Formats: sequence, structure tokens, C-alpha cells
Amino acid sequence: MLRPVEMAHQMLSKTIKPGDVVVDATMGNGWDTAFLANLTDNVYAFDVQKEALISTQALLQEKNLEAKLILDGHETIDKYVSDSVKAAIFNLGYLPRTDKSIITRPSTTLRALDILKDKLLPHGQIMLVVYYGHEGGQREKDAVLDWASTLPQAQWHVMKYEPLNQIHTPPFLICIEKR
Ligand code: SAM
Repeated sequence: MLRPVEMAHQMLSKTIKPGDVVVDATMGNGWDTAFLANLTDNVYAFDVQKEALISTQALLQEKNLEAKLILDGHETIDKYVSDSVKAAIFNLGYLPRTDKSIITRPSTTLRALDILKDKLLPHGQIMLVVYYGHEGGQREKDAVLDWASTLPQAQWHVMKYEPLNQIHTPPFLICIEKR
């Protein structure tokens, strides 16, 4: 069975072609950035923590990959990415083993989603891996579910991939595709 993040990668690997402009909205330790950089040489990755850029740079170097690493919030995507975007991925929540007070937040996440929605190419995709067990997570979960489920169905496919029999608050995936 695929975990939510593996399912996101599987779908993105079918969508992204070499040269496509793609966004890792929450760089963290760079696992998604490296995954994207294997598919295209046009990856923009965002994080607000310097530590994220340092560990992602090390991971990319080890794998001989390249990406544009940006120390800024994903809500500023417009400042750095002028092209249309083929795909984006978010891992919401906090970076394990670092400062748990640095979390993604509803207002900035929704701002980034609104910008990406307009920048997305037809058949482009946004993957949201939603972790919500931490303080503030439930509010963000509700906000993104509300945002995604009200996208007009004539223009958007929206799917949810979620474990049904796990205890605690396992992450789930929201897949968004422009028609
Ligand atoms: N995808 C990452 C990986 O492969 O390791 C994990 C991401 S972690 C769950 C969430 C990340 O979002 C943290 O590194 C945090 O610093 C970052 N973050 C929080 N607010 C942000 C914002 N406004 N813009 C960009 N990144 C943000």
C-alpha cells in the first residue's frame, strides 16, 4: 500500500516532464525537492528555515541534483516564479526534530494555494500532504479541505487519499488537478 507521500510522488512522476517548472512549497529536509529535481531541472523550493536550505543543499549535492532553493515563505512564490507551473507539492506541518513552533499556517498556505492555482498549467497538479496532529494542525486541515472542496468541478479534479483505520492523526493526501 502506498503512503500518502508515495502516492503524491507516483502521480507527479506521471505528470512532470523534463523542463517543466515545478514547486516544492515546503522544502524541509529536501526529500520532495530531490524527487522533483530527478524529473526536471526547473525546481523552485521554498522554506522559512535556514536549516532546511542547508540540509536540502547537502542532499542535492549527494545525489548530484540541482534546484533553486529559496529562503522565503511559499506565499511569496510570485516574487520568484514568473513562469506557469506544472506541479507543486506541500507537506504541511512542522519539520521533525526541529523547532515545533515553526509550522505551516492556514493564511500563508491558502495564499500560496491561490497563487499556484492561477499559475498552474492545464493538467497541472498540486499535491497537499496534510499532517495535522500538532497544535494548530486541525485548523489548517479544515482550511485546506474547505479551500480544495469548493474548487469548481468544471475546472478542477479534487481527490482525497486517506487511511481509514489508523489510530491518532495519520497524514492524508489531497490531489488537485486543473482540467
Ligand atoms: N517536504 C519536507 C521534506 O521532504 O523533508 C518536509 C516539510 S515539513 C513537514 C514542513 C516545512 O514547512 C518545514 O520545514 C517548515 O519550516 C516549512 N514552512 C513553514 N512555513 C512555511 C512557509 N510559509 N513557506 C515555506 N515553508 C514553510
